[in-house]
Amino acid sequence: MLPERLRRVMELLARLPGVGEKTAQRYALYLAADRKGVAAELGVELAALGANVRPCDRCGNLADVIDGHAVCGVCRDRRREARLLCIVHRVQDLLAIERSGAMRGRYFVLGRLLSPLDGVGPDELPLAELSRRVREDGVSEVILATPPSVDGEATALLLARELAALGVTISRIASGIPHGGDLEFADQVTLGRAIDGRRSIG
Ligand SMILES: [Zn+2]
Repeated sequence: MLPERLRRVMELLARLPGVGEKTAQRYALYLAADRKGVAAELGVELAALGANVRPCDRCGNLADVIDGHAVCGVCRDRRREARLLCIVHRVQDLLAIERSGAMRGRYFVLGRLLSPLDGVGPDELPLAELSRRVREDGVSEVILATPPSVDGEATALLLARELAALGVTISRIASGIPHGGDLEFADQVTLGRAIDGRRSIG
């Protein structure tokens, strides 16, 4: 019933998080009928995304690729305390903490959490990169801001054990975010309090 290309766009849109088939259809029909060039502009930007944006070489946040290097805005910001490092699961969590304004240091994005049920063990986590970052930047305090879920807590415990040998102060963000909750959806005040109220665990 629908043109082949339009069906293809709908299939791709439906793969995005939070986009079901109906929403994908609504977006695809809007783009197909669009007279203002949104579809064309979107196409150009999406095509350029892969070559021009990638995880920051230092922290895993997303960054512009410049001369083959990718260093994000937080890592380039010299006013940031290099000795304070906040470890998060995903870029969304980093952005949520940034919105709270409570973090003066820098970040390290793990990309994944320890998850025995899903077959993600310690070897799948970037522990060597994290240790190197802590040593090279002279980090003195690490804040574990993994989510308050089973996997998030297990990951925090593992990281605390790994980092203990490096002689840094280790703290865990305070409660206030419900268990199983998502940092991304916590309000700024709650997240700010969770950072400020972090407790030392190592
Ligand atoms: Zn960075």
